[in-house]
Amino acid sequence: MSASIPSTLRDIRACKMCSLIKTLDQFDDEGCDNCDEFLHLKGNRDRVFECTSANFDGLIAMMDPSDSWVAKWQRVDHFVRGMYAISVSGELPEPIKRSLREKDIPYRTRDFSHKN
Ligand SMILES: [Zn+2]
Repeated sequence: MSASIPSTLRDIRACKMCSLIKTLDQFDDEGCDNCDEFLHLKGNRDRVFECTSANFDGLIAMMDPSDSWVAKWQRVDHFVRGMYAISVSGELPEPIKRSLREKDIPYRTRDFSHKN
């Protein structure tokens, strides 16, 4: 199994659902490795802009999610290997959150920045 890592450090974005970091083009070409089943980012650049954020903090490389304290802390042990953000600004658009709720897919915001 290969890890999903950004091919360049330009135009990198983080998925608002799982915090996976890839480039804009990678999200557009491949979708999100963890979430595309329900976010449908692949081939849909508007969706990529809605569901990923260029504004994120922290960067962790997760190479063995099944045995990583970082994974447990981020609750992402079932996700693919790759680079993840610690905090991602912004939330998924309301219609997408609603459709996730309808499908009983848990969504937890990745935005841990403090808001005043
Ligand atoms: Zn994702």
